[in-house]
Amino acid sequence: MDIRKRIDVFWPYLHAIPEPAFCEIKTSAFVAEVLRKSGYEVQEKVGGTTAVVGVLDSGRPGPVAALRSDMDCLLFKQEDGTEKAVHACGHDGHMTTVLTAAEWLAEEGIPCGKLKILFQPAEEIGKGALAMIDAGVADDIDYLFGLHVMPQDMARAGEIIPQISWTACTLIEAEVRGKAAHGSQPHLGINAIDVGAAIVNAVNALHSDPLLGGSVKTTRFQGGSGSLNAICDKVNLGFDLRSTSNAEMLELRRKVRDIIANTAKVYGAEADSHITGTCPAAEPDASLLPLVQEVIVSVLGQKALLPVKAITVGEDFNFFKQERPRLKTVDMGVGCDLKPGLHDPAMTYDRYALEGAVKVMHELVLRALQERP
Ligand SMILES: [Zn+2]
Ligand SMILES: [Zn+2]
Repeated sequence: MDIRKRIDVFWPYLHAIPEPAFCEIKTSAFVAEVLRKSGYEVQEKVGGTTAVVGVLDSGRPGPVAALRSDMDCLLFKQEDGTEKAVHACGHDGHMTTVLTAAEWLAEEGIPCGKLKILFQPAEEIGKGALAMIDAGVADDIDYLFGLHVMPQDMARAGEIIPQISWTACTLIEAEVRGKAAHGSQPHLGINAIDVGAAIVNAVNALHSDPLLGGSVKTTRFQGGSGSLNAICDKVNLGFDLRSTSNAEMLELRRKVRDIIANTAKVYGAEADSHITGTCPAAEPDASLLPLVQEVIVSVLGQKALLPVKAITVGEDFNFFKQERPRLKTVDMGVGCDLKPGLHDPAMTYDRYALEGAVKVMHELVLRALQERP
């Protein structure tokens, strides 16, 4: 297969039709059509969403290997107030890689078992993987391979990180309600700003095991009526929590929410908090890593293989392992001279560097399907 030629067919089209979470209409129609033409049995609108699943059945018993790509783009506020859709997280590159590998594997045929291709919506809002898992997509999968393009300070074109250890993330929103009063009579009110400040200070005093690298930051503090002689009766707070450990993340969440509730109580105020988004930390299968490392070296040479990398970013790929622990999963980082960085609307990368990732995914599927789970 002429991989670069296929990249030149898929990437320019997908790059030009960026669609945000759960709105990947043209994108999902395109990938579904390519899969269908390649010989996959295709399911669209999986779980009532834009998700697409392609199945290639060898007709022989064996394990089920799967490749996963996300499909959504990001929205950026323009100066005129409108929003612009941009593939600033490289999901166009992920789709291109997975589509090319999927076509190639269908063309050659797989030795046994089944190959499933997962095109997942809504990664950026952390909801697409769960929607596919809830629809039962992962129930019969034994091996799941994913990829993410990496900024060039982490991997250059031609280099691959065999496993990215993504961090667990949680976002928490809180509302603190005190009691309004005139500034001349502060004793008659409950100043929600004072309560909010006490909450922020208490949260800042939380300490994580340094080896787990947990952190909690206040990311929103809004309140006040605008009148400088009024005691504020309401503030809204926001917090960003991260940890490399899913167990520690549960602890941090509980502590932050306890601080919010109990601090408000001490001041006679009321507070509600809720979690607006989560992503689990990566729990990659240790037994799969040597296979991935070996495949990278055998397909691209020793210099292409980078060390395993932990990064403090969330990725909803990790829900697959958390929700279906029997799955063997690995998410690779692909170097492609990406700059200036992910989630930057001016982000660019070398799409031909995806060629190496296509070869690695192709070989990983063939190797996985030779082994019994
Ligand atoms: Zn992203
Ligand atoms: Zn992404």
